[in-house]
Amino acid sequence: MCIKRYHWHLDRATVRDETIAIHGGYRGDDTRSVAVPIYQTVAHDFIDADHAAALFDLVTPGFHYNRINNPTVDVLEKRMAALEGGVSAVALASGMAAVRYAVRNITAAGSNVVAAPQLYGATYTLFAHVLPEEGVEVRFAVDDEPKSLEARIDDATAAVFCESIGNPAGNIVDLPAVCEMAHSHGVPVIVDNTVATPILLKPFEHGADVVVHSLTKFVGGHGTTLGGLIVDGGRFPWGEHPRRFPMFSRPEPAFHGVVYASDHPDSPYAVRCRTVGLRNGGATLSPFNAFLLLQGLETLAVRIERHGANAEAVARWLQKDPRVAWVSWSGFPDHPHHQLAERLCSNRYPSILTFGVIGGYEAGIRFFNEVKLFKRLVNLGDAKSLVSHPASTTHRQLTPEEQGLVGVSPDMIRLSIGIEHIEDLIADLDQALEATLP
Ligand SMILES: *Cc1c(COP(=O)(O)O)cnc(C)c1O
Repeated sequence: MCIKRYHWHLDRATVRDETIAIHGGYRGDDTRSVAVPIYQTVAHDFIDADHAAALFDLVTPGFHYNRINNPTVDVLEKRMAALEGGVSAVALASGMAAVRYAVRNITAAGSNVVAAPQLYGATYTLFAHVLPEEGVEVRFAVDDEPKSLEARIDDATAAVFCESIGNPAGNIVDLPAVCEMAHSHGVPVIVDNTVATPILLKPFEHGADVVVHSLTKFVGGHGTTLGGLIVDGGRFPWGEHPRRFPMFSRPEPAFHGVVYASDHPDSPYAVRCRTVGLRNGGATLSPFNAFLLLQGLETLAVRIERHGANAEAVARWLQKDPRVAWVSWSGFPDHPHHQLAERLCSNRYPSILTFGVIGGYEAGIRFFNEVKLFKRLVNLGDAKSLVSHPASTTHRQLTPEEQGLVGVSPDMIRLSIGIEHIEDLIADLDQALEATLP
């Protein structure tokens, strides 16, 4: 809605990811500015009352009030939609806003969502403790196998939710099989693609219907900016399931009686998310943050290559080290998801990896305290290398049983490998491991 048509959707067919990440969604403004301008404004001047009415009714493209859309944010939305191969995107203030809006856009009290168990910590608590207060039940499957997810589906299931690559465990979900199973029940699949990024994996190519992102991580890439985004794949027939998704085929009371499925047939999901979720929920991304995220996006593809090469070197070095109990990196042939990584990520592997230090929880904490170059953070996807100890930080509010379910063990160290020189990274790991010895 409300967008100047830059024919951005043609980009996907003619140019590749690296090029879209730099040029997608932007053809210059009236000043011919090469950089995407920061439109730091709240509102836009109407030509007259008819123009205002047409903007409000979504019949003419443009901008009116920047809680709902903004020209700088709009470029980011188009660029990310093009990279993912979706039809439309809605940017939000954070990844958690994206997860929440993506689910609430298609649920009402009485709906349920079936979720894979290995999820980002705040997504897990949103699902386990917050959404149920709004009458939306989230049913966690015992694992992310299609059969386990299928066992939780019923007539009130509005979506299957999973992370393409799980944070923090690095597990990879068999998206083609999960999507085929869900679609056989008329249920859409929402995929959090934060850890993979569209450079490693494009969920729409494997059947997903909605993709969510925390742009805070690899897309921004420099640990400076929070942001989130929802991409509409444009294929799920929302209007054909009026009992499961009444919000798409009835006149929308929250937006002057629009019927999304028939009035906005190209992307009813994204238009509803903007006009109901964002307009009334208000988790708007600021134009300045959109600008910073666009800066990050320009170098995403080259950073992902370097992140991947460094992570491989670290994984192979750790695996040979006697102070290390185990290393989990999907590039190893004996990793349970190695074949999935090869199939879904075309032989490239994520740059987050986990390992256990000999000596358990206590040794894990000693290692964590001793690193010098690695930053002790709860973040990932930064140019800087980061270390976290999930059991004592991101996942400490979970019970030990919940920790086990989401794939966290007491000795688990998670590394997000940055793009520094590899020898400096290994030297730091080496000296920190020395501190774990009794
Ligand atoms: C960080 C993260 C989120 C939440 O994103 P914020 O931008 O921090 O709100 C959601 N999902 C995954 C997989 C993440 O890593």
